[in-house]
Amino acid sequence: MPRFPGVDYLDFDSLLSEQELLVRQTARQFVDEQAQPLFREAYNSGVFPRQLIAQMGELGFFGANLEGYGCAGMSNVEYGLIMQEIERADSGLRSFVSVQGALVMFPIHAYGSEEQKQHWLPKLQAGEAVGCFGLTEPDYGSNPSGMLTKAVSQGGDWVLNGEKTWITNGSVADVAIVWARTPDGIRGFLVERSTPGFSASDLHGKLSMRASITSSLHFSDCRIPAANMLPCAKGLKAALGCLSQARFGIGWGVLGAAMDCYETARSYTLTRKQFGDKPLAGHQLVQEKLAWMITEISKGQLLAYHVAKLKDAGKVEAAHISMLKRNNVAIALECARLSRDLLGANGIIDDYPIMRHLCNLETVKTYEGTDHIHTLVIGERVTGIPAYR
Ligand SMILES: Cc1cc2nc3c(=O)[nH]c(=O)nc-3n(C[C@H](O)[C@H](O)[C@H](O)COP(=O)(O)OP(=O)(O)OC[C@H]3O[C@@H](n4cnc5c(N)ncnc54)[C@H](O)[C@@H]3O)c2cc1C
Repeated sequence: MPRFPGVDYLDFDSLLSEQELLVRQTARQFVDEQAQPLFREAYNSGVFPRQLIAQMGELGFFGANLEGYGCAGMSNVEYGLIMQEIERADSGLRSFVSVQGALVMFPIHAYGSEEQKQHWLPKLQAGEAVGCFGLTEPDYGSNPSGMLTKAVSQGGDWVLNGEKTWITNGSVADVAIVWARTPDGIRGFLVERSTPGFSASDLHGKLSMRASITSSLHFSDCRIPAANMLPCAKGLKAALGCLSQARFGIGWGVLGAAMDCYETARSYTLTRKQFGDKPLAGHQLVQEKLAWMITEISKGQLLAYHVAKLKDAGKVEAAHISMLKRNNVAIALECARLSRDLLGANGIIDDYPIMRHLCNLETVKTYEGTDHIHTLVIGERVTGIPAYR
């Protein structure tokens, strides 16, 4: 497997510290040597390569930007660079890391009791336990505020009834963060895998994110101890706080997929010849596509870097992260389409990663707030008028 040379048109690396470059190099080497060689087969067979989990735990990738409880305590730039490298392998691998860190460890870290943190965070950080995040329901996707899953207090326990769907890692998770309606509003709960009344079943037939596990979660009089409620997660805004963490990682991650598509197209068109001895890359129409890709990737890197700096300074707004997620997913998807085009027929075959990235990025456009929803968040930020309804 050839080593990834990196994509850096504007001397972006001059913005990075020695430590940030080292973190990226560690993630890059892991992806080049361990992860990337597995994903052609993983995608085709629809099986997540679970052997990578422990290695990613050892490297500190899970909850990397959280402090304490065994977490690496990295800056948001370092965390973003890890996401970028990981998604270069496959969006399904980045989804695993995003869910584990941003959607499971973050809510326990931010909203959990000391006992919950001590019990779960070290295991999740090490990859000894896997988590999932259950917010979406069959009838409530973009609008989770309508959720039907209910939790009622009974004899000192909580009893959950309802269904969640499209849940990454649902059937392999040791613990599910489940959002449910209570008489006090929406609250978050920790539901352990073996709890009676809780079951998970996998969704089949996906033509995108094939290397990622996606499940439905079913709760039928599922009784959990009172201590399994996240004490500080009050209202839907707590769940949305987790989504902001995950969307931030996506904004960086998709740059990795875009870079892989760009670099594949650039090197392919430099060697492939048609109509004489000139490589495809010598034609103006081809250069126009490469120029578009490198320009958008470079702008996307600067956007991601700036939002990370705002996040480190405690100044980031959800609407900033919406712009990052929406823009960088859109440009990554377009890079995948252009790259597919430039490879001609070879663009559709799994000798190259392009079609896999393209199919995966269709999911990334939809999950963690669709492109439309982030457009409306930005629209509300600049007009003051919410246009969701
Ligand atoms: C592979 C995969 C993994 C996932 N993992 C998770 C997970 O781990 N946990 C979890 O909770 N969820 C997960 N999801 C679910 C994901 O977050 C939802 O699919 C997403 O929120 C969109 O909801 P929906 O699919 O119901 O689409 P809908 O909300 O039905 O939207 C359909 C279309 O209508 C548009 N639309 C909706 N409302 C508006 C509006 N007001 N204005 C304009 N357009 C609108 C949308 O933008 C979209 O284009 C996952 C999804 C996928 C595909």
